[in-house]
Amino acid sequence: MPDTTPEAVPALFISDLHLAEDRPLATAAFLGFLGGPAREARSLFILGDLFEYWAGDDDTDAPFNLQICNALRALSATGTTIWFMTGNRDLLAGEGFAQAAGLNLLPDPSLIQLGEHRIVLSHGDALCTDDLAYQAYRNQVRDPAWQAAFLAQALPSRKAFIESLRKQSEAAKREKAMTIMDVNHTAVEALLRETAYPTLIHGHTHRPAIHQHRIDGRNCERRVLADWHDQATWLAFDGQAFTDHGPSRARSSL
Ligand code: MN
Repeated sequence: MPDTTPEAVPALFISDLHLAEDRPLATAAFLGFLGGPAREARSLFILGDLFEYWAGDDDTDAPFNLQICNALRALSATGTTIWFMTGNRDLLAGEGFAQAAGLNLLPDPSLIQLGEHRIVLSHGDALCTDDLAYQAYRNQVRDPAWQAAFLAQALPSRKAFIESLRKQSEAAKREKAMTIMDVNHTAVEALLRETAYPTLIHGHTHRPAIHQHRIDGRNCERRVLADWHDQATWLAFDGQAFTDHGPSRARSSL
């Protein structure tokens, strides 16, 4: 359970960076963020899909992955505590990655308390229950037996499999209705009801927004994090209020 003391704020929340060697602008934005705004924070919460893909912790030594891990560890060494929840893309990032990057793993969903404020954190893909084919796939790849069998394969075979999966997924996404790939409201409300926490923060859908929900007479809020392109984008919480930072906010205020 993350730090529940006020010393955990300012806290920053990011997700869906999809870092990869062939996305140098996102990588540069992330390295700038880790060396800049993140140093002013006491906590950094990464809510999944930090990487475009993660083939297994035995790939931590690949130069690109090592560069990201070293930058995270450098931030951690300055006193910012880093929390990481896997997304669907980096589902296989585990203890080996956590050690290399100097961060702490969080389960999905996680309940945190920052000062007086209670927050539910999730990557968000578990809430997309209208996409039955995706949920069947999700159940399969989250099965420990499936993961053990997959990780027993040689690293190049795993990378080839992931590459073929990414192509299939891109093709499938083009054919699916946009509404099917968004969160299901009943699933969101069930999570907010079950936890009785007033705020849910998630990513995955790449549809940054603030949604209001009324659950059992309580006002709840769902904050959807933005995905990254060529600039950093993050949500900040100072113990009292949330503030969005990033290019999409700047545009919407014009
Ligand atoms: Mn995702």
